[in-house]
Amino acid sequence: MNDKRYDLHVHSWFSNDCKSDPKDILKIAKKNGLSGIAITDHNSARFHQKNFKIDGLLIIPGVEISTKKGHVIGLGIKETIEKRLSPEETVEKIIDLGGLATIPHPFDFTRKGIGKIIYNLKKIAVETVNGSCPIKSFNTKAKQMAIEYNLPETGGSDAHRLKDIGMAYAACTEEMGTVDDLLEAIRKRKTTGEGTNLTIGEKMIRTFQIHF
Ligand SMILES: [Zn+2]
Ligand SMILES: [Zn+2]
Repeated sequence: MNDKRYDLHVHSWFSNDCKSDPKDILKIAKKNGLSGIAITDHNSARFHQKNFKIDGLLIIPGVEISTKKGHVIGLGIKETIEKRLSPEETVEKIIDLGGLATIPHPFDFTRKGIGKIIYNLKKIAVETVNGSCPIKSFNTKAKQMAIEYNLPETGGSDAHRLKDIGMAYAACTEEMGTVDDLLEAIRKRKTTGEGTNLTIGEKMIRTFQIHF
């Protein structure tokens, strides 16, 4: 049973559109029963340059990078990559740094999904459930694409507020001891994207909460 949950897309106050305190994020993630969490701030790895930790929760380094064509996440990297490169170059740089590239909300054209370019990319995973997609079919399309092309799956809440942490996640059968073990399990397609997305009403409330 895929009952171990890793929320692989969470923002903290090191993102300019998020106010979540890193210490609170870790507490909530643990309280919600997650096995691990990736903090993936926009173009910033500052979270991972500090030593935030909490017992019993695997913290996966990561960054959400703004490429020329949309967002790309690097998991397992503790430094950021310059903005506005092509998605191809960005993926290559993530791999060179020893990380795993996953494409968040690829078909969400309202939030910088990279769209059809995903079909040109190699050695990627696909975020098949994103908790912040305004329309469920964006996630459905990502899931179908990953299955059709045999690509590894990740999942994440894309939480910009504490209450959304853990609503979407990558699920797997085993508890992972290290970040490398988890990345390897993803590459071997032992994980699936699971969970749900915010309703349109909640999205509107969230927009208000994170910007004002
Ligand atoms: Zn994004
Ligand atoms: Zn995000």
